[in-house]
Amino acid sequence: MNLTRPRELIYDAVLTLAYPQTCAICGRSVERRRFGVACEECWKETQIFADDEAICWKCGAPGPACGRCEEMAFTAARAAGMYRGALRESVLMLKRRPYLPEHVQNLLESVVMREPLSFSTRVVPVPLHPKRLKTRGFNQAAIVAQTVAKALKLPLDEVSLVRVSATEKYRAGLDRKGRQDTVAGAFDVSHQRLVADENILLVDDVFTTGATVSSCADVLVAAGAMQVFVLTVARAR
Ligand SMILES: [Zn+2]
Ligand SMILES: [Zn+2]
Repeated sequence: MNLTRPRELIYDAVLTLAYPQTCAICGRSVERRRFGVACEECWKETQIFADDEAICWKCGAPGPACGRCEEMAFTAARAAGMYRGALRESVLMLKRRPYLPEHVQNLLESVVMREPLSFSTRVVPVPLHPKRLKTRGFNQAAIVAQTVAKALKLPLDEVSLVRVSATEKYRAGLDRKGRQDTVAGAFDVSHQRLVADENILLVDDVFTTGATVSSCADVLVAAGAMQVFVLTVARAR
């Protein structure tokens, strides 16, 4: 990938003078705005999955079929790379500022353009808990979802998938086991008609155990979605 464009260089040189920014990893100056919080050198050292990367087809874990994801409710999950280095810093920054640097946008676009995520028909972000949304002011997964919906020219759906608050669950009288389980039962589909027969592209910032996206996929499939693909910026393992 060519990381340099002449016009941008001049523009960014001016910008760096006006707003000098240091790399969140090495402390050097970030000379290209499109790289966000990390410098070009640190981006070069960050593991990004190549088109032909050997991954578990279903969950996207590096290596051959992982054997841990059979029970997960989604069809396939993909990420731009591992949750380390510049990708990790970008995800952390995304929780503070509702903005995705151009370089991260490009990485995500190339992931969703590939099969099987390219078969998606509707983009749905993992919803944030209403309380968390109130304190943060935005849902970081929705920022990522906006970017890929635009790239794929697909509808962005922020209403169909909802998070059911823990207190609501408690009031609904779930048993003790249900209350202990924080993820299963945390999501619900409020507009069944909108997700029925669709290939949903479910979007989140990080894939950790896969429990959250699998739980979302579960309710989406139950609501009639044909397939659920998962996109995250990075994966923790
Ligand atoms: Zn750096
Ligand atoms: Zn797997």
